[in-house]
Amino acid sequence: MIEDKNTSRTSLSELGEFGLIDHLTKNFEIQQESTILGIGDDAAVLDFKDKKCVLTTDLLIEGVHFDLSYVPLKHLGYKAVMVNLSDVYAMNATATQITVSIAVSNRFPLEALEELYAGIETAAKIYNVDVVGGDTTSSTTGLMISITAIGQADKDSLVYRDGAGENDLLVVSGDLGAAYLGLQVLEREKQVYKANPNSQPDLDQYSYLIERQLKPEARKDIKELLKALDVKPTSMIDISDGLSSEVIHLCTKSKVGVNLYEEKIPLDPAVISTCEEFKLNSTTVALSGGEDYELLFTIKQEDFPKIKANPNLTVIGHITDEKSGIGLVTRANEKIQLVAQGWNPIKE
Ligand code: ADP
Ligand code: MG
Repeated sequence: MIEDKNTSRTSLSELGEFGLIDHLTKNFEIQQESTILGIGDDAAVLDFKDKKCVLTTDLLIEGVHFDLSYVPLKHLGYKAVMVNLSDVYAMNATATQITVSIAVSNRFPLEALEELYAGIETAAKIYNVDVVGGDTTSSTTGLMISITAIGQADKDSLVYRDGAGENDLLVVSGDLGAAYLGLQVLEREKQVYKANPNSQPDLDQYSYLIERQLKPEARKDIKELLKALDVKPTSMIDISDGLSSEVIHLCTKSKVGVNLYEEKIPLDPAVISTCEEFKLNSTTVALSGGEDYELLFTIKQEDFPKIKANPNLTVIGHITDEKSGIGLVTRANEKIQLVAQGWNPIKE
């Protein structure tokens, strides 16, 4: 398990709210031309000139979305940014700014927040986004993080969920299911650790899975790749809740059906071997797992030659008419209706 190496503990009350904000945000640098004013006033000032502005927000709650017994705070900060940038990239837009709001209890020392912000800062640097504001408040128990991401795009390059047309090809970036299995491995190790705190886990064979769970990367590269290939997707969504529920969103919004081919779903070898070990069906894991933060999109048939040789992209199905339904064509060549198994707090 991940130990807290940092043993010094500075109480948050020693700094006060403004001292804390200054301390946490002092390293943030402005990189984007569109940022006129960042942190420090009542509001940030942005200028997108002739571009369209996209905006998206997410809220992460301790105990619901993350478990600090195996998620290092630095990774949590990084991942919280990725979750939001992924939504910007799913609009085929460029992420430019984020705001970060946190609610913390006095159970967290300053050093813990420094870790969280180190992850946020790393993500902002690598993905070239400015942190331009946020809010800091107290909570009675857990940690909450809300990040808002802002991005820009030309009006004509934005891609929505509702644009898929009949005969379009369904394409996915990267591979699926690894993040979910990474979580299963971490959960199992947590139980082992609880039973025997001296156990030394050997997680080498799961490193890809754990990395996908703890340190996902949003697909900033796909917009650039598609532009270079001269392909504009007809519709797009990011995969946060599992392939199944995202395919359903895309088809429902676009009023179309789909044939999704089980044998085409891209899986890393570590996903296949770990599914065998955990006695899980790899297709189910890819369909329902979630947190892969890959992009799912549709393209016109005629664009197929442009993408077919690309190792980052896999055609997994084709769009049909709405009446034909949203179906998974199994390896046995049977068509079954897809059901969403994404996490839905309202239905629970
Ligand atoms: P206000 O009282 O107007 O909400 P604050 O004192 O909360 O202002 O914030 C001062 C500045 O610091 C603002 O620019 C705000 O956006 C920024 N800020 C506050 N909390 C955070 C945070 N957790 N992360 C990044 N920026 C923050
Ligand atoms: Mg405030």
